[in-house]
Amino acid sequence: TPAADAPRLGRDDFADLPNGREMGMIKDAVAVLGLPNPFFRAHEGRAGAETTIGDRRVLNFSSYDYLGLNGDPRVAEAAKAAIDRYGVSPSASRLVSGERPVHAALERDLAALYGTEACLTFVSGHATNVTVIGNLLGARDLILHDAAIHNSCVEGARLSGARRIAFPHNDAEAAERELAAARARHGRALVLIEGHYSMDGDVPDLARFVALARKYDAWLMVDEAHSLGVLGARGHGIAEAQGVDPADVDIWMGTLSKTLSACGGYICGRAGLIQYLQYAAPGFVYSVGMAPALAAAAREALAIMRAEPERVARLNANARLFLTLAREAGFDTGLSEGHAIVPVILGSSVAATRLSASLFEAGMNVQPIVFPAVPEKSARLRFFLGAEHTEAQIRTAVAMLAATRGRAR
Ligand code: PMP
Repeated sequence: TPAADAPRLGRDDFADLPNGREMGMIKDAVAVLGLPNPFFRAHEGRAGAETTIGDRRVLNFSSYDYLGLNGDPRVAEAAKAAIDRYGVSPSASRLVSGERPVHAALERDLAALYGTEACLTFVSGHATNVTVIGNLLGARDLILHDAAIHNSCVEGARLSGARRIAFPHNDAEAAERELAAARARHGRALVLIEGHYSMDGDVPDLARFVALARKYDAWLMVDEAHSLGVLGARGHGIAEAQGVDPADVDIWMGTLSKTLSACGGYICGRAGLIQYLQYAAPGFVYSVGMAPALAAAAREALAIMRAEPERVARLNANARLFLTLAREAGFDTGLSEGHAIVPVILGSSVAATRLSASLFEAGMNVQPIVFPAVPEKSARLRFFLGAEHTEAQIRTAVAMLAATRGRAR
């Protein structure tokens, strides 16, 4: 029963919805500054290294099409052929009549990439983390996650009802202290990290987390949303980059929306885990199957990634060049290791929003990341580099940043 003093709210009371405070802060910040809203800007065509917004052609650093495959005609052809064959929607949950051969084919390809027994795909990456984490653990269990972990993992952890502990970003020693103190009081334990952090562009020491999970008999789950196609000489992800056996990670999670230029999420792991999810993860069982065109597109993108590793090398060279130039120009690029994600930290939401607006005026689309998505003192612009960017575009971007920064204060 609600508290006696809880005010009764009517159908038009939206202001103090659970996340209303966050919406208010972002919208008010823009309104107070009198700046054009940087959010929901519509792109008139494909957003590649350049994009058209309204009637302006601008440089683009706000899309995570890391290997440039969203514009690849082979990917588009695969999607179109799937539509011609299967229609747009599978029109049912896969469990009950939504299954198409392309679903299993994509899952075989992803399982082969990680060398795991099995794989399952879901309609969204965010939904994957929520439904998988939310239903693998329960109230008696323990979830230990990096403080910078993606929102979808936090939501999943909350849904599970497990005890949730965040350890300081990338600090395996702190994670061990927490596990040592809490492990014995819980049934199952899950250690949750990303392969490449989406806000900071840095990478964990995977072997240390593998050892930790082993020592405390915990599952290790790695979210590869931003590491597939980015890390490792062939883009196979953090295990390839760091010479770790992928079999040492219990649960590989990834999205189809970045390198694989589609929409959806995947889990790769042991057969028993995948079978449980197939029959018992509500976000899979009670959701429509993935659109066959998206599964076909992701499959083709994965095949191109494997056949053309030079794209991965180009992406990394581009990101390193951007990072080097931005540092030389005196910008604070935080923890970025120069793989694909480079923040330019400005220290206040107002400064980040102002600089984004000035850069848009000057001909560049880069989004501000403001409080509460990151702490206020680390409000930033976040640059996504891609294989498609040219050296000239990268040099122009840093020159524009340097020329515009005075206006941000
Ligand atoms: N995990 C991480 C680390 C992410 O950054 C994101 C979103 N960008 C997701 C999961 C969710 O994936 P999707 O956007 O494909 O739903």
